[in-house]
Amino acid sequence: MRIRRVSRKLAGVIGFQIVISGCFSAAFFATSLLYDSISMYPSAFMRQLINAWVGFFLFVFAMFFIGRLMHPKRLAAFQPMVEAIRRMAKGDFNVALNIHVEENHPIGELAKSINDMAVELRELERMRQEFISNVSHEIQSPLTSISGFARALQNDELSPPERNHYLSIIEKESFRLSKLSENLLKLTSLESDHHPFERKSYRLDKQLRDIVLSYEPQWMEKEIEMDVSLEKVNLVADEDLLSQVWINLLNNAIKFTPDKGTIGIHLQQCEDEVVVRISDTGIGIAEIDQKHIFERFYKADKSRNRINSGSGLGLSIVKKIVDMHKGSICVQSELEKGSVFTVSLPMKKQL
Ligand code: ADP
Repeated sequence: MRIRRVSRKLAGVIGFQIVISGCFSAAFFATSLLYDSISMYPSAFMRQLINAWVGFFLFVFAMFFIGRLMHPKRLAAFQPMVEAIRRMAKGDFNVALNIHVEENHPIGELAKSINDMAVELRELERMRQEFISNVSHEIQSPLTSISGFARALQNDELSPPERNHYLSIIEKESFRLSKLSENLLKLTSLESDHHPFERKSYRLDKQLRDIVLSYEPQWMEKEIEMDVSLEKVNLVADEDLLSQVWINLLNNAIKFTPDKGTIGIHLQQCEDEVVVRISDTGIGIAEIDQKHIFERFYKADKSRNRINSGSGLGLSIVKKIVDMHKGSICVQSELEKGSVFTVSLPMKKQL
């Protein structure tokens, strides 16, 4: 490749020399012929000057002519690129340009950028379609259930307990729908980068304790034992956003832990970070699912009762908020044994 490039450059230089020599030789012979034909011989200086000017004009003309000859070739290289961009503008991203030019040539670089752009746009389009199909599915299933049970309620022969049961399902499904739209709006707002983000110094241990207490009815109902150990920590962060993180993690821990299980909430301050561990003795998450649970709409517990399961957005919101704080979150889990979610947040200078 390198040898080809060098030989091409060498050929260019030699060609250039030939054109220059040709133009000036032609100028010399043409002017000599002219002098002979009109029998007029100017001084050596004037002859030199006239030769130089004629040679120069011939050279400019030759270069212009050569440039015109090469032009269509260059245009031909651009044509497939223009066509590819036109196709992408119409939404067809199945574009793969195959232009053979030497390495690092600007035209080759441009074609490569167009190919990369097509790959990125294809991926975006795939994500967009997947998102729409997930949202439609999440909306469709509660709606089907609501309309089915509403129709069943029109039966006058239903007993009061049956009627109450159907009504409670309709209520749960409506709640699921409203939760879905709330979570979607929250995630969209967080990802838009316009979401208010106000850091201030506050007591993280107090925040965690308050959240655990506010969820007392839920964990008491399942007779879950709470093992809480919180170091006193002052953190600079967005209090409201982090509260959402702990609520989502605690909610999941309660949801996926059977009656009489144990949930642990531990807060520890290490050198320049705080570590919050939320553990449970619940159903656990299979290794294959652990990599995906932070993705939107991902649900590892597909076989579980659909009414109790969420929309699979809770952990993506958690991840987004932790990322906004430049922290990290990881999960360790074993099926039927339980899970541990560990959130590490960098300590910022206190306000
Ligand atoms: P969902 O609203 O469905 O709970 P999340 O995004 O919060 O959505 O969680 C995604 C999936 O991760 C859940 O559907 C569940 O399968 C799994 N998961 C999350 N937390 C736990 C946990 N503590 N124990 C077992 N599985 C969990």
